[in-house]
Amino acid sequence: SSSSSTGAASTRLPVSFEFFPPKTPEGAAKLRTVRQALYQRSPEFCSVTYGAGGSTQEGTFSTVREILAEGFSAASHFSCIGATRDSVREQLATLKAMGVKRLVALRGDLPSGYGAGGEFQYASDLVAFIRAETGRDFHIEVAAYPEVHPQARSPEADLQAYAAKVRAGADAAITQYFYNSDAYFRFVDDAYRLGLDVPVVPGIMPITSSTQLMRFSDACGAEIPRWIRLRLQSYGDDIESIKAFGLDVVTDLCDQLRNAGVPGLHFYTMNQSVATLALLDRLALSA
Ligand code: FAD
Repeated sequence: SSSSSTGAASTRLPVSFEFFPPKTPEGAAKLRTVRQALYQRSPEFCSVTYGAGGSTQEGTFSTVREILAEGFSAASHFSCIGATRDSVREQLATLKAMGVKRLVALRGDLPSGYGAGGEFQYASDLVAFIRAETGRDFHIEVAAYPEVHPQARSPEADLQAYAAKVRAGADAAITQYFYNSDAYFRFVDDAYRLGLDVPVVPGIMPITSSTQLMRFSDACGAEIPRWIRLRLQSYGDDIESIKAFGLDVVTDLCDQLRNAGVPGLHFYTMNQSVATLALLDRLALSA
């Protein structure tokens, strides 16, 4: 399943960019500049996270509105933890009225200390509900975890959770970021064997800092391979070396993925353009 003729057409590999809602007017202004730089690379869509890190629904919606007004396709992330059927129905109506055509449907994470109490337990429940309520109005993406979601009972249970989301009506998946491409290829093969044939787009996290990456990865179930961790640690606070090494490593990863015929690449931009643009430049050069 991994031999396709990418070759010369590979520079046309679809890309998408993920942002989080800025918390200040300065952050919003900076993100506008970042988006303009990234729009030059003709993304399929830009997505905006929801409820992560204490951000508000209004923050997500207003960033999504700006992207649509700038003439690009926007995907609103949509998490269901703590939500009720009525609140989800209301938000879907708002998103539809805004002209949103794409959703990234997620369970989400509650800050520790909060009770559950919502009417949706898993992302698959949300996907089924969105389909039942709105038919084909939205293109629905779901999350996939090649290195296994941290709360999964087992790798097999996690694969079944992914299958449930696809069977509930997801059109495509975006993965948690990873630096072991084998984990991605194994996941895609396993999914294919279960008859799940929706595109699984790798999520790509550029490496620009060492402490931030390690802190993040522990929590979300992405492994930093030992050799990468040791190399990053050895650079100490020599940021330039970290960035140069990170660019080499992630370029190689994207190259492997592209050569294997992945359906696209989704970049976790962290609201920065420099690292993602550098990666895209390198990928075009080595095409
Ligand atoms: P689910 O697919 O529901 O899975 C959650 C856990 O439950 C997994 O361990 C799974 O194995 C298990 N499970 C699922 N179904 C069952 C079942 N029937 N029985 C037993 N166990 C089951 N978070 C945000 O807050 N906002 C965002 O905008 C956001 N964007 C994201 C984008 C991407 C591409 C990714 C990969 C993650 C994103 N996240 C976001 C993080 C995500 O919300 C968390 O990883 C969350 O813990 C799981 O969400 P999920 O949709 O994958 O959940």
